[in-house]
Amino acid sequence: MERVGRGDDAKAWEKLGYRLVLEYRLVFPASFAALPHLVHLASRSAQARGLAGTILRCAAGHHGCDDLLAACADAIAEFSELLDRHLQTRPPDYLETFLDLLAAKEQYHWSAALGDFTDDFYHLACPHCAVEVTIAIGDHGRYSAIRDWHLGDVDRLGLRPAAHEELSGIGRWMHETAVRDAHEPLADGIAHLFGKAECPRCASVFTIADEYTSANSPILQ
Ligand SMILES: [Zn+2]
Repeated sequence: MERVGRGDDAKAWEKLGYRLVLEYRLVFPASFAALPHLVHLASRSAQARGLAGTILRCAAGHHGCDDLLAACADAIAEFSELLDRHLQTRPPDYLETFLDLLAAKEQYHWSAALGDFTDDFYHLACPHCAVEVTIAIGDHGRYSAIRDWHLGDVDRLGLRPAAHEELSGIGRWMHETAVRDAHEPLADGIAHLFGKAECPRCASVFTIADEYTSANSPILQ
């Protein structure tokens, strides 16, 4: 830790990252013990920022992390503010930072599930007829469909994005943040993800994010 504190020695950072989260992305009490120091370094070190973010993302679904997270509450609050300031500079690692901030807010589900909306698919069950519905939100289209092994996505129906005032909770925060930072692809993708889809089979209309969350929670990594 002393060594990495002096500069951005890539090898030292790699070693430290390996010790704190291992290659299996597991976290230990030592990972949380290192958090306050990493957060302290994070304002001037991209490596420290990245490693602190990785530790928080890895906290999802691990038993015994709650007490360790609670003990780091001050460092996590400081880290959240730092990430939020970093987002406002519209950095090249915007999405990574956004996902780290979601993890810092203990929104592990979206931190793990959210993509960049260039080619994203979400699979869920229709809440009414239980047929598996494929949701596409990407450059190639924004639709609900039935995935056919031979024919691809058939019976496509356009999604109905949510207007900002219809959003609440974490969806509203995500949309607000992406709009604030003029990150249009992300804001638009989130509006679709937290918007509505129609089931191609039974025509019932549901909120994508709600059904996807209930199909994929809790996330165990
Ligand atoms: Zn249905």
